[in-house]
Parts: sequence; C-alpha cells; structure tokens
Amino acid sequence: MSRILPIVQLGDPVLRARAGDVTPAALAEPQMQELIDAMRETMREAPGVGLAAPQIGLSLRLAVIEDRPATVEGLDPEARADRERAAVPFHVLVNPVLTVEDATPAHFFEGCLSLSGYVGVVGRALAVRVDCMDETGTPRVIRARGWYARILQHEIDHLSGVVYVDRMLTRTFMSAEECACHWADADLDEVLAALDANRAP
Ligand code: ZN
Repeated sequence: MSRILPIVQLGDPVLRARAGDVTPAALAEPQMQELIDAMRETMREAPGVGLAAPQIGLSLRLAVIEDRPATVEGLDPEARADRERAAVPFHVLVNPVLTVEDATPAHFFEGCLSLSGYVGVVGRALAVRVDCMDETGTPRVIRARGWYARILQHEIDHLSGVVYVDRMLTRTFMSAEECACHWADADLDEVLAALDANRAP
C-alpha cells in the first residue's frame, strides 16, 4: 500500500534548489521503487498530471508523469484539440535533459500542485525532446508535442528550482476559481487581450 505524501508549497527552499542526479546505486535500492509508487499515488490523489521529487521535499532529478485517458476524454473536444492534449501513460523521468525542438510558443493557463489554487498563462515550446532514464535505469528518448511537451517542461523546470510563475505572463495570474468563473470558455487570445497581458506595470 502506497503512502500519499504531503506536497510542499512555494516558499519551501527545496522548490528553489537545483536538484541532484539520481545515482545508479540509489536507483537500484528497493526504497526507490517505494518512493516512485508513493509519488504516483500522490499525483493521482492530488489530482495532477506530473509530480517532481522536489514537490515532496526531495532534491532529486526524478519526476513522474501521467495524463489519464479518463481525464482527457472528459475535456471539451475543442479545448483538447487546441492544447494538443492526448493521454500519456504513467512513466518515470530519471535525470532528464530537455531540448526544445520547436520553440513556437503555445500560451495556455497552467497550474502547479505547489501553488495550490492559482493559475497563470505560460508560453511553452510546442515540441521538445527529453533524454532520461526510466525507473529501471534504461535510457529513454521522449519526443513530445502540445500538452505533453508542456507537462515535461513544467516538471523538468522543477528539477532546476524553476516554477511556472517565473515564466508566466504575470498579469494573467489568478485564482483557479476565478479562472473557471470568468475565463473557462474564452480563447487565449481573448484572455490575453482582456487582461492586457503584455502591458508593463
Ligand atoms: Zn508544478
């Protein structure tokens, strides 16, 4: 039975540290599989589509990702198509290195389990490549576009002590509740214009 781990909130210095590599010896420890299981259950319970080790207080280059079919199928088809969002099976990133393959920015609201209750618009590269290992130490190359590429950029940022608020259009920062109330059906160009998102203070 896996534990649900507490998710640390912004302000905890672990979220601002550069995480250390997972060593082959650490990866082979039975506790590592228990940790990965606990991270998976914590992510599902939250619920979220990714969780990085610093978010549970561990400064390690380790993250889990899953975008479940039930979640994706429950979305408005137009919103899903705009975001290029498709289900992603559960997988583990160990010591990932991200390379942008298509820097065209896609702008959408995103949130973070470590800034619970808030969202902001972040421009993310449309396509990325990630070189990493899986939980067995096997090297993997991931090529991703759209929402999956966004999730990878968000989670791998956590491993460098970067949080989405560092990259967002600050005038789009808002409570998730107000976002659902005012902007749920708006397209992003409309949101950015209404909020005057590119205005300097
Ligand atoms: Zn996050």
